[in-house]
Amino acid sequence: MSQPQAVTVLGATGSIGASTLDVLARHPDRYRVHALTAHRSREALLAQCRTHAPALAVLDREEDAAWLRERLGEAGLATEVRCGPEALVEVSEASEVEVVMAAIVGAAGLLPTLAAVRAGKRVLLANKEALVMSGSLFMDAVDRHGATLLPIDSEHNAIYQCLPVEHRGGLARHGVTQLLLTASGGPFRGWSAEALAGVTPEQACAHPNWSMGRKISVDSATLMNKGLELIEACWLFDARPSQIQVVVHPQSVIHSMAAYADGSVLAQLGNPDMRTPIAYGLSWPERIDAGVEALDLFQIARLDFEPADEAAFPCLRLAREAMEDGGTAPAVLNAANEVAVEAFLDGRLGFAGIGELVARVREACPLEPADALEGILAADARARREAEAWLGRR
Ligand code: NAD
Ligand code: MG
Repeated sequence: MSQPQAVTVLGATGSIGASTLDVLARHPDRYRVHALTAHRSREALLAQCRTHAPALAVLDREEDAAWLRERLGEAGLATEVRCGPEALVEVSEASEVEVVMAAIVGAAGLLPTLAAVRAGKRVLLANKEALVMSGSLFMDAVDRHGATLLPIDSEHNAIYQCLPVEHRGGLARHGVTQLLLTASGGPFRGWSAEALAGVTPEQACAHPNWSMGRKISVDSATLMNKGLELIEACWLFDARPSQIQVVVHPQSVIHSMAAYADGSVLAQLGNPDMRTPIAYGLSWPERIDAGVEALDLFQIARLDFEPADEAAFPCLRLAREAMEDGGTAPAVLNAANEVAVEAFLDGRLGFAGIGELVARVREACPLEPADALEGILAADARARREAEAWLGRR
């Protein structure tokens, strides 16, 4: 039996991070935890260090790192603690690491995720914002450095499972006519624009099928999540926006589909539990136990499908337009959305204001090429400034 593979989990204390550790712990013969990282949640990271005994733990601030060092010392644990964005990059590119789970939320995950790609790791991509911001650069780096990129977003993981193993080089080459990206519709499916105006952060974060971090929960409620996923799918599968159809499927049992020229439609089904795509990403091309209950079709009984309501949920259209415009447009869209979601969660912006803010920032920011990291980060920073200025003016 070969040695267990060393895994770094970026964003270990989040929803995807915790699910990843659950799967890893089921297979100590295959995997060992090299590094765990968190932003500020030091208590949660301490608990994870006790259970998984990583070689390294990373927090954002030195004061939190010092606190963790002291607790680990008291507990007699040998985990080394580092802090700051450079430490995230270090634990992603370290030579002993074979697998990196990219599960930081938002643009903060871009640099460590890209570092893992450039170091040729097996990269499990949950952090969709990183790919949305830097699509072309990111995919070029995957090819150039021989990284193995496995999508963890359930939809993209499903499509990956429904495509031929060698699927790069355009969908048509493989007889694929369309990708069907399923969406639960979020907690406000069927609501009118008027009803949506007054929703609260608590309502937005109460997703009917999935338990997730707060940012992606709000994105699911506005359908920006589906918009970001549309952009993500374009980059992962060499697809044009017109080749992707969003299908609202409230049961979240079909995780997405690929339609072929001969009339076949391949789908991947499963209970809505992120441990399935995580286990797939870890073990591909093999399959391992994920701790997920088998799907009971008789209990599910029926599967429904409907189109998305782009009038009530403009974020999906805004994302498609950003992908069509290309260049830095997706990075601008993403940055504006991150500011808008935070303002909504802080009670500074209404639900309908999220799409409005994103649209205004897109108008205010010039379209630039996105072929270099500096330009992408500059577009991200500019969009955040425009977004804050717009919030301040209202
Ligand atoms: P979460 O908020 O639960 O966790 C985020 C993690 O990132 C935490 O460990 C947090 O400490 C860390 N983090 C946050 N800000 C950071 C920063 N500035 N610097 C360093 N670390 C930081 O989020 P989540 O729901 O686990 O989602 C993580 C990513 O996975 C997101 O990009 C999301 O879109 C994607 N995703 C999540 C799900 C899901 O079911 N939760 C499904 C598909 C995709
Ligand atoms: Mg998804």
